[in-house]
Amino acid sequence: MDDRLWHCPPCGETTEHVQPPCTDGHTDGCPEWTCVRCGSAVVVGESSRVAGVLRLRHAA
Ligand SMILES: [Zn+2]
Ligand SMILES: [Zn+2]
Repeated sequence: MDDRLWHCPPCGETTEHVQPPCTDGHTDGCPEWTCVRCGSAVVVGESSRVAGVLRLRHAA
């Protein structure tokens, strides 16, 4: 299974994240990841969406 090392706020440190079985039908990369230590869900798309909003605000 693929995994990623990210900072997990509940754990307070960098932990391993894995993708749970996708139940939403994502076929081209599911954005949902789960911390293997505490089980917190992380949705990767959220951060890029915030970045997009910041870019629009900067342009205006
Ligand atoms: Zn999914
Ligand atoms: Zn965690």
